[in-house]
Amino acid sequence: MGTRNRRDAEGERRWTDEASYVCGSCGEEIVVPLDPSAGESQQYVEDCPVCCAPNEVSVDYDEDGSARVSSRPE
Ligand SMILES: [Zn+2]
Repeated sequence: MGTRNRRDAEGERRWTDEASYVCGSCGEEIVVPLDPSAGESQQYVEDCPVCCAPNEVSVDYDEDGSARVSSRPE
């Protein structure tokens, strides 16, 4: 990983920048980076890093800024 920068102000991080979904093929939990600037609702296809099966990943942001990630097999 490397060094992490510590932030002085607590509570500054309003967004989670990572979320996870469960691969519909192998059942592994896959962690994905989030990009809130890309829109409130995002959808993309990603190959599972474990079993290489494509998953359709949907990211939706709630009003409070928390992300919900769901997936289904392509
Ligand atoms: Zn998988």
